[in-house]
Amino acid sequence: MNKQYDYLIVGAGIYGATFACMAHRHGKRCLVIDKRNHLGGNIYCENIEGINVHKYGAHIFHTSNKKVWDFVNSIVEFNRYTNSPIANYKGKQYNLPFNMNTFYQMWGVLTPAEAQAKIEEQRQEALAKMRAEGATEPRNLEEQAQILIGKDIYEILIKGYTEKQWGRKCSELPAFIIKRLPVRFVHDNNYFNDRFQGIPMGGFNKLIDGMLEGVETRLNTDFFDNRQHWEHIADKILYTGKLDEYYDYRLGKLEYRTVRFEEEILDMPNYQGNAVMNFTDAEVPYTRIIEHKHFEMFGDDVYKCPKTVISREYSTEWKEGMEPYYSVNDEKNMSLYQQYRALADQEPNLILGGHLAEYKYYDMAPIVEKVMGLFE
Ligand SMILES: Cc1cc2nc3c(=O)[nH]c(=O)nc-3n(C[C@H](O)[C@H](O)[C@H](O)COP(=O)(O)OP(=O)(O)OC[C@H]3O[C@@H](n4cnc5c(N)ncnc54)[C@H](O)[C@@H]3O)c2cc1C
Repeated sequence: MNKQYDYLIVGAGIYGATFACMAHRHGKRCLVIDKRNHLGGNIYCENIEGINVHKYGAHIFHTSNKKVWDFVNSIVEFNRYTNSPIANYKGKQYNLPFNMNTFYQMWGVLTPAEAQAKIEEQRQEALAKMRAEGATEPRNLEEQAQILIGKDIYEILIKGYTEKQWGRKCSELPAFIIKRLPVRFVHDNNYFNDRFQGIPMGGFNKLIDGMLEGVETRLNTDFFDNRQHWEHIADKILYTGKLDEYYDYRLGKLEYRTVRFEEEILDMPNYQGNAVMNFTDAEVPYTRIIEHKHFEMFGDDVYKCPKTVISREYSTEWKEGMEPYYSVNDEKNMSLYQQYRALADQEPNLILGGHLAEYKYYDMAPIVEKVMGLFE
């Protein structure tokens, strides 16, 4: 018997929305359900005081793939936002990513040769110290970072931030977490190396709404509240929720890290003059402050809106009931993930997609690229 839909899509995040958009364009009958009261998953924005506030963390779309860029721009045009975060260490500001501006602020060096010499000198000091202690390989993240980039940048721009992110000391974290630390010996504060980046004009909701135009959606609808019903409504299920939850945690629970956001509306037009400010010392308890208006308002336009909204981000351990933001891809969790994955591989009508079901960190553009690939 013909089922009502070709695809039931569980989750209206960017994975589910891109999938629905593509399937709909291919003439498939789709139903998208989401347990939240809004579409967009983690890229959802709420309009507060005329400002699009990124409710689940700041999002910047970036890609070098022209097909992906043209596709998202065919749905909504993107603005010229360029991510150039600032680091604040004990009240002093440094440009990121590490580039000639940072090196000038750190040491007063004026030329690439001077900056290179400074970094090399500190790298050699770190290597000599490690060898003097009888080690041939960096034994933890602290040693690894200093061998890659030297003591000053590590202590001022990496140590405190990383310790807040992981909730552990760098000397107790494994070295492999940092494989390379890119440095640029040019004056360039553009965080991404990608060819294209920006924010959809009017915010990320416009992108999701555009993708889901003409597709049936139901909010406040949890797949697990009526699983029997949903399993029989469509030929195939695209599931973008947590993989362990899909199997009722029968093999155990996967672990995550999460972020707590403390949002504040301020009665001033411009709080920090930049969208992203990283706080890299250990004394400030939050990792970043996001000032949302700077993603979409530039130059004098910042002052046309009399208020501003900021979010302080606190990186924390994930517990039941919190949003699962980052998978913890260590050996223990990856082995559990593979066991769940083996169960899913036996279900021909189940497709897993997105950061929760695939248990991995995914930027937005690779998701769009992957889903476009599925339909090519
Ligand atoms: C703090 C932070 C900052 C980030 N910044 C960037 C950035 O700057 N640039 C970038 O490219 N990427 C960024 N990312 C990554 C980006 O968020 C992800 O690529 C993207 O949101 C993943 O989309 P998704 O559809 O896989 O998952 P989600 O957006 O999480 O969507 C999954 C959806 O499934 C729904 N769902 C789950 N279970 C059920 C159920 N049982 N029934 C019904 N619905 C269900 C959820 O409610 C949710 O809406 C960031 C991530 C984080 C955490």
